[in-house]
Amino acid sequence: MDKGLFIDGKWRAATGGATFPVENPATGEPLAEVASATPADAMAALDTASRAQASWAATPPRRRGEILRRAHDLLIEREDEFALLITREMGKSLAESRAEVGYGAGYLRWFGEEAVRIDGSWKVSEDGTARVLVTRQPVGPCLLITPWNAPLAMPARKIGPAVAAGCTMVVKPAPQAPLTTAALAGVLAEAGLPDGVLNVIPTADAAACTEPLLRDGRLRKLWFTGSTAVGRLLLAQAAGTVLRTSMELGGNAPFIVFPDADLDAAVEGAMTAKLRNIGEACIAANRFHVHADVAGEFSARLSARMSALTVGPGTDPATDLGPLIDERQRSKVAGLVDDAVAAGAQVRTGGRVPAGPGYFYPPTVLTGVPAGARIGREEIFGPVAAIRTFETEAEVLREANDTEFGLVGYLFTGDLGRALRMSERLETGMVGLNRGYVSDPSAPFGGMKQSGIGREGGDSGIDEYLEQKYIAIDFAEESR
Ligand code: NAP
Repeated sequence: MDKGLFIDGKWRAATGGATFPVENPATGEPLAEVASATPADAMAALDTASRAQASWAATPPRRRGEILRRAHDLLIEREDEFALLITREMGKSLAESRAEVGYGAGYLRWFGEEAVRIDGSWKVSEDGTARVLVTRQPVGPCLLITPWNAPLAMPARKIGPAVAAGCTMVVKPAPQAPLTTAALAGVLAEAGLPDGVLNVIPTADAAACTEPLLRDGRLRKLWFTGSTAVGRLLLAQAAGTVLRTSMELGGNAPFIVFPDADLDAAVEGAMTAKLRNIGEACIAANRFHVHADVAGEFSARLSARMSALTVGPGTDPATDLGPLIDERQRSKVAGLVDDAVAAGAQVRTGGRVPAGPGYFYPPTVLTGVPAGARIGREEIFGPVAAIRTFETEAEVLREANDTEFGLVGYLFTGDLGRALRMSERLETGMVGLNRGYVSDPSAPFGGMKQSGIGREGGDSGIDEYLEQKYIAIDFAEESR
């Protein structure tokens, strides 16, 4: 039963039998009923994770790595099956879902390779009287809370390093898209992950289930991916036990096109940075700043490309762009567009909610978006490109950094000096330089400012799940 809770290696119903519905966003019709964990179920998951911690930490790194590699291979073998599941519950096109399977599986492979490279160090103390031995050990049971927008990649990006480091975990997926995460847990179990290491608790009442875990001293780590507003709440709760936290939060990415940019590359980059995941990505380009000299041509070419896309159910092979996740999200996107238009922006394409079932919103380009419009301050999470013009490098840098977010910035220029200056000065954890895509298991993914704390992937990703321990060794000379 992959629509249940996964605790101690077994699928089971929630205490009391409560369930919640998962919808197909392309039709608004129910897709499945999923068990809704209670706080007692959540505690049972933490009990299990705590019990499994010592033996899992003692499992040879090579074995942990091989389990991840096997899970990677199973995901790739079942790419079509997983892609269909992602598309049905989250909405994106099958081509995009297939790409997510490869991307998510890539984190399992990457961290499978990192499992055997957890190192330490040995050195002579400053005054020469001691030796400094530094080891790294698993931080302990983790709570991993994930969003709905990438239901395979978001949990894989956390489960991979946790498994590699020797941590056990409780995963709380988003209620809009819990089926893929459940199927991922099934694959990890099949790949040999011992019972109790990974527990999954979908629930319709996230706060009630996670709050007691955050108060429990056995929990040693919280990794949250989601909105900045919820991240702040969880950070406040985590303060109670001084819990180690990592946060991947919201974004408000600037996409900057200088007059010396290769416009073909800039338009291509804009299509990727704006429309990947239907715009429902934390790294989606949110504010387009285009130099006044090229703004007319860039806007016309982007509008032509975006209006030529086929919008429809993700399961239809002809579809380029699927529906948004739910009515709440669609109303938010439509509201931001209406607000910008009321403030003086012009609609170049799209901009109207279509009739019919499903939560579709058309690819939309706005030009002349005034400074201070809500669409430039809030995360859109939809297929809307909001374009403003600028004149100077100093002006665009000031505008780009004028936000509490700092996840990623995109920069298109043919001038090396400008590329390096701007990359250094953008207050973001990541920069896409002449490229609309930054996600990569081998790179440190994460944000500055209120976009997050910590990094996923890359050489340092596993560190988030490891504690350093320093052992001071006396090295006095023999006294006689
Ligand atoms: P969200 O509303 O913050 O929810 C994220 C997760 O937190 C869901 O599982 C949600 O479950 C849970 N949650 C919400 N309130 C909670 C509480 N009080 N206690 C415990 N758990 C709680 O975000 P979302 O709408 O799912 O995802 C979109 C957001 O995620 C965007 O802001 C996006 O930028 C961000 N995101 C960031 C990254 C990154 O790497 N920086 C990646 C992907 C997405 P419920 O829905 O049941 O409350």
